[in-house]
Amino acid sequence: MEWQIHGHEWAVNLLKTHASTDKHRHAYLFVGPEGVGRRTLALKFAQALVCPNPPAPGQFCGTCRDCRQLESMTHPDLSLLLPEEGHKDILIDQVRGLQHSLALAPYAASLRIALLLDFQRATNQAMNALLKTLEEPQDKVILLLTANALESLLPTIVSRCEVIRLRPASIASTRVFLQSKKGLSSEQANLLAHLSGGRVGAAIHMADDPATLSRRRENLMAFLELLPARRYQRFRLAEKLAKPYDKARENVGEVLPLWLSFWRDVLIRVSGADLPLVNLDLEQQIDQIAAELDASQARQLVVTHEKAIQELDLYANPRLLVETLMLQWPHVSVPLMIV
Ligand SMILES: [Zn+2]
Repeated sequence: MEWQIHGHEWAVNLLKTHASTDKHRHAYLFVGPEGVGRRTLALKFAQALVCPNPPAPGQFCGTCRDCRQLESMTHPDLSLLLPEEGHKDILIDQVRGLQHSLALAPYAASLRIALLLDFQRATNQAMNALLKTLEEPQDKVILLLTANALESLLPTIVSRCEVIRLRPASIASTRVFLQSKKGLSSEQANLLAHLSGGRVGAAIHMADDPATLSRRRENLMAFLELLPARRYQRFRLAEKLAKPYDKARENVGEVLPLWLSFWRDVLIRVSGADLPLVNLDLEQQIDQIAAELDASQARQLVVTHEKAIQELDLYANPRLLVETLMLQWPHVSVPLMIV
């Protein structure tokens, strides 16, 4: 079976060679933005390493028990490491637990595989604990790490891994992929290609879960309605986002990136940059607001929203953060055309 990965051809070729020549490294690090396909690629590599009946060198059958269990991440020789329920971080005890299980011989496959997802979320202690495993590699153990950026890991971890850097695919090729492989209409494929910025995993996720898309649209519509509105009307949304109290951070964390993506689009238009819009379906509204702002105002809005996203975790009261942002939104003179 072919790997069926869109983009990342060089990475697929490299990993196929490593899998078929048995010259794989002990640790791989898949780096790139969320939704770019890091985990998918890591799991296909695991299948290629373990499948007992590959139809061709570097491939995997996709139908044997090993292949199916790896794909669904239920293989007995696959250890998964990610933050535990209710925790933001990967903790040192989890790394120790993983090391313990990696010391045992594989059950079913020829290898024990550890998949460490979003390892930038590991505490410094946990990263240091993993170093021991990286420094003293064991036979029949392979570590597959994913992370959003090299800078968010200890350099000593990065230097001991084969680094596979994944970049988003082009908007155009993502659109074609979504049309041909997911059967989307050209309009829908175009929108998702823009919204995902060429991160194919993110695009597929949105295609498979229409609720994500409709929630995005609702959230953006509520935001657009407030641009010509008065301060008290804006604050009403801030109040709504802060309820229930224990969900406030989550609610705010969902809308901030949407607002930021909108202001970035406005900045693209104001500055005349030759970049694709993210919110293609709101092009008209973006143009309308861009006509009322200058480049420095638009840039300032992008900067303050980026800062707010970084600071969200520091705020005891996310509602206050949102209200501060709302005061900086421009007041649009005419109602926006909202369909
Ligand atoms: Zn197989």
